[in-house]
Amino acid sequence: MLRVYNTLSRRLEHFEPFSPGYVRMYVCGPTVYDYSHVGHARTYVAFDVIKRYLRLRGYNVFHVQNITDIDDKIINRAAKEGVSWREIADTYTKDYLDALFKLRINVDLHPRVSEHINEIIEFIQLLIDKGHAYVAPSGSVYFDVDSYDDYGRLSNRKDKETWMQESEFAREKRHPYDFALWKAAKPGEPWWESPWGRGRPGWHIECSVMSSKYFGERFEIHGGGSDLIFPHHENERAQSEAALGVKPWVKYWMHTGMLNVGGEKMSKSLGNIVPLKDLFKEWDPLVIRLWLATVHYRSILVFSEDVLRQARANLERLVNAVSVVKQVLREAEPTFRLSDEGLKALEELNRLRSEFYDAMDDDFNTSRAFSAVYKTTSLVFKYLEPRGEYTIALKALNLFREFNAVLGVLDEHLEGAYAQLGVESVLQILIDVRNLLRKSKEYSIADEIRNRLLELGIQLLDEGDKTRWVLKK
Ligand code: AMP
Ligand code: ZN
Repeated sequence: MLRVYNTLSRRLEHFEPFSPGYVRMYVCGPTVYDYSHVGHARTYVAFDVIKRYLRLRGYNVFHVQNITDIDDKIINRAAKEGVSWREIADTYTKDYLDALFKLRINVDLHPRVSEHINEIIEFIQLLIDKGHAYVAPSGSVYFDVDSYDDYGRLSNRKDKETWMQESEFAREKRHPYDFALWKAAKPGEPWWESPWGRGRPGWHIECSVMSSKYFGERFEIHGGGSDLIFPHHENERAQSEAALGVKPWVKYWMHTGMLNVGGEKMSKSLGNIVPLKDLFKEWDPLVIRLWLATVHYRSILVFSEDVLRQARANLERLVNAVSVVKQVLREAEPTFRLSDEGLKALEELNRLRSEFYDAMDDDFNTSRAFSAVYKTTSLVFKYLEPRGEYTIALKALNLFREFNAVLGVLDEHLEGAYAQLGVESVLQILIDVRNLLRKSKEYSIADEIRNRLLELGIQLLDEGDKTRWVLKK
């Protein structure tokens, strides 16, 4: 039974989607005003791993991750560099997508704010109509926090004083903790027409609008870094439950622990970022992926070369173990008889498989799950390599395939193994059929098989009552 930690209840809960077998997951993506950094990768890899595990468990997962391409930071950077906001957004969107590709993260949909202005306006109008938002004299629209009675529960901030800590200053608000849904245009800024005059969306509204557009009124998982719990997710929750009239709007709120440098969050505004594009020059993106995939998603991380060196060693060990497995499959006789030790090894592999699933079922505990992966590699080196048992190799290969469905760092190595396994099995069938034909003296058909294989460069060698094949050089 899968259990996940829900930030809202601050407890582990049994995972039960609204509709059986179907999971909608929305993750807050980047504000594209600078290069993606290791802190971003921490969160994106974590949710990719969560999604992959849910898929391995048989769920249909639809993963949406938004791109914030309208924001103060983008506008400021564009003004500083004397280019349009779109140019800035496009440059860093490309950098972000490139990083995801290299890290083997496959998001189903990447909606952009600038492409959803009409839907945003409609959503804000709904909030105004329902009495949850008001238009200020400037033409900005604010959410009336007092109109929603559950505000502060997600971030566990009960009193109004704490709501004010991160609020934007604006004299025209009814309460200092109300937040902007729509910002009236200031000179030189991008704007769109709206019923309240020219302006642009505030930050929080986009996620409520885009998730409801693609998922409907409620969905299963809402994710992001824990830096977003307040105010971003608190505000999203308030405006969505108020507008859509559903509770809960989101079934599981999931947040990653921050990647820190010297005790502070890695972030552009603190000037301590390590851009992924630079890191990829020195480190295989799959090393970075393996590191991030094998630490628990809620733990706080510290970036260092040491952790990357360790991940590189782990990756090498995994690749070597798979190559031992492939070698055994190539060289051992394909028999399913097992020695007593073989039987024990098989049982151990089954146990390690359960260990992996149990750990992942426990709130996606990838660090414990990886210890089962590591033990599997040990068995490969200690038992399989010297003994070369075909059945154990086949079992290990299947296990690595399951592990890799989550880890995503062994694709090439495993694909090769399956192609090889497929070709070899088919060849063996042809060899067996040819030998049967020879036994019943159907020599011309038997020769046809041999000659056609030879045309492909595969030579059959008859040795006594056995037939081997070799690749003809
Ligand atoms: P941003 O571009 O800052 O809005 O961040 C995009 C996503 O990356 C959000 O889900 C953030 O919570 C996450 N994120 C940003 N910085 C970090 C960090 N240092 N550690 C973990 N996640 C981060
Ligand atoms: Zn969001």
